[in-house]
Formats: sequence, structure tokens, C-alpha cells
Amino acid sequence: MMDRTFVMVKPDGVQRGIIGEVVSRFEAKGLKLIAARFEVLSEKRVNEQYTEHLEKPFFPSLKKYIMGGPCFLMVWEGRNVVSIVRTVIGATNPQEAAPGTIRGDFGIDIGRNVIHASDSPDSAEREIAIHFKSHELFSYTRIDEPVIYEY
Ligand code: UDP
Ligand code: MG
Repeated sequence: MMDRTFVMVKPDGVQRGIIGEVVSRFEAKGLKLIAARFEVLSEKRVNEQYTEHLEKPFFPSLKKYIMGGPCFLMVWEGRNVVSIVRTVIGATNPQEAAPGTIRGDFGIDIGRNVIHASDSPDSAEREIAIHFKSHELFSYTRIDEPVIYEY
């Protein structure tokens, strides 16, 4: 089975109208969208999603930010997708993110960095399970797969 990762356009990204731009960048890269949902996250799922940050000083403002509007949640599939997506979104702080990355192109403040993506295969598996049931993950073939991958 191909690798999978969890990606989420945060409320500022939704409000700035860049869902389409984000999806386009991953599609153009050759990755496959296998699940998507639009919703305001519950406090319970924000706490689960950011469990490693619960005690951090920035957590209250992070929670308020993430729950401040609808998010666009996705699961993407592809070979080495976790590290590819982290590269495409750029550094956590948009001021340090390289131009051409999503955060580098669209953000300024670390607390408004427009997008989330899992940082390791283990966290990807954990985060996908927080937000999606297995029947919400779809399996299909992209017709360009034979020319995207070296078999
Ligand atoms: N964050 C913040 N201030 C900080 C560090 C992080 O507001 O000093 C927020 C930011 O939205 C970031 C999220 O907390 O995306 C999770 O932090 P992490 O270090 O896991 O960064 P990421 O994995 O999102 O790049
Ligand atoms: Mg993280």
C-alpha cells in the first residue's frame, strides 16, 4: 500500500480562499486525494490532533485559531507522501519558509500559517485515525500513475 498523510487547510487558509490552490499543488505533484471533509473541529479533536502541544504556552491561542472557523481536512496518498508534503508546505514559521512553499508564499505569522501536515509516518497514521473512519478513505487509480512513478 502507498504511504498516506493527513493535511488540513486551517481557518485562515479557508478564509483567504486558497483551498483550491493547495489542492492544485498536491495534485500537480502527482499525489492522490483519497479523503476530504469541511468542518469546524471539536475541542476534543483539536486536543487529540495537537496532543504533543497541550502544555505549550501557545496552545490556548492555537486552539482558538484552529476552532475559529471551518477547516478543510484531507488525506493524501503517494510514495513518501509524508516528507514530500512537509517539503511542499514549508517551515512552520512562514517567515522562514522558502518561497515556492505554501507557507512561504501565503503566510507571515507562525500563528497564522494556513496549513497543517503530519510530520512523520507514525503521526500521519495517528492523525488520519483521529479525523477519518476507514470507510471514508477511497481507493482509486489516477490514470497518470504509470508515468509518475518509476516501477
Ligand atoms: N504554533 C504557534 N506558535 C509556536 C509554535 C507553533 O502558534 O511558537 C502553532 C502553529 O500553528 C503550528 C502549530 O502550532 O503550525 C503546531 O506546531 P508544530 O511545531 O507542530 O508545527 P507544524 O508541525 O505545524 O509545522
Ligand atoms: Mg506538528
